[in-house]
Amino acid sequence: MIRKITKPVLIGPYTIGGGGRVLIQSMTNTRTSDAQATLSQIRALADAGCDIVRCTVSDNDDARALYQIKESSPIPVVADIHFDYRLAIAAAEAGADKIRINPGNIGSDDRVAAVCRVCREKKIPIRVGINSGSVEKEILNKYGAPTAEALCESAIKAARLLERFDFYDIVISAKSSDVVTTIMTNRLLSAQTDYPIHIGVTESGTERAGVIRSSAGIGSLLCDGIGDTIRISLSADPVKEIEAARILMAACGLRGAETVEIIACPTCGRTRVPVMEIAAELEKRIAAAKLKPKRRIRVAVMGCAVNGPGEAREADAGIAGGDGEALLFRKGKIIEKISCRDGSQSASNRLMEEIRRIIEEDNG
Ligand code: SF4
Repeated sequence: MIRKITKPVLIGPYTIGGGGRVLIQSMTNTRTSDAQATLSQIRALADAGCDIVRCTVSDNDDARALYQIKESSPIPVVADIHFDYRLAIAAAEAGADKIRINPGNIGSDDRVAAVCRVCREKKIPIRVGINSGSVEKEILNKYGAPTAEALCESAIKAARLLERFDFYDIVISAKSSDVVTTIMTNRLLSAQTDYPIHIGVTESGTERAGVIRSSAGIGSLLCDGIGDTIRISLSADPVKEIEAARILMAACGLRGAETVEIIACPTCGRTRVPVMEIAAELEKRIAAAKLKPKRRIRVAVMGCAVNGPGEAREADAGIAGGDGEALLFRKGKIIEKISCRDGSQSASNRLMEEIRRIIEEDNG
């Protein structure tokens, strides 16, 4: 895959764009003013693999809490601002690593200029975040609806406004809750700007539907080489967003989502071992073990000899089922036969052992 190389924009210890790895973001859903609750959620997100976290700053209490949050947060913190430019300034003063504004609802250009001035002084970037509901009237009139062209034009216009105030550390996002519009918008944006792009399908829904919709939208763009940071937004615990984002990034073959990926066959009339139970048990154990592999490790759980040995051979480790037993493969070699008469236990135990061994070997 050839990735679009965008302008590098620094955020804390990371670089967004510039051909660096795609960074995973999420957003806290605690009251930001409750610094302890917010920090505890940020730590859970960071543990799950979140690179950058966004917190709403909707009043002065939130802005004040940012000092404490920033002091202890293990990852860069973005302040999400709507309507009140003074809160953007207060958040920058409190040490936010990036400010997200929608120039369309911040008010007069003078106010945007004031935000740019403080962010330039503090050397922190601004994300201009546009969505379907915020497209300016004249652009809506021109296109008749918040189409991909309208969203793209609105986002480019927002970036140009910041440039007028001599501000260039810009990240752009233009989101729609419609998957196809999101894909088209970001393709247009990527063709028209070299600023890094944050991608996501906004308000994508509950955990199951939201993951599918986000994967269709974000996954298509990532496979096009578009996108420097992503957020899978779900109506669920934010940690679920990170778990889904990591699986999606690994599926797209991207760096930064080093994870243990389970490949499992869908089962059919030939299946004589409990494939679903073994795969589910393995997934549970991998998540509980909080493994930190250095690369994507693929583990195959296959039901029979039709595709099983082929897939298991391609994977780092895997099993191919027989009648109540399974062959355990490691890098294409059969290393032993495992009984599956005890359900998922022996097979998942042995696969976990192999996964740990692979990680140890990788770590030297
Ligand atoms: Fe069926 Fe075997 Fe394919 Fe699994 S690997 S779906 S058991 S044919």
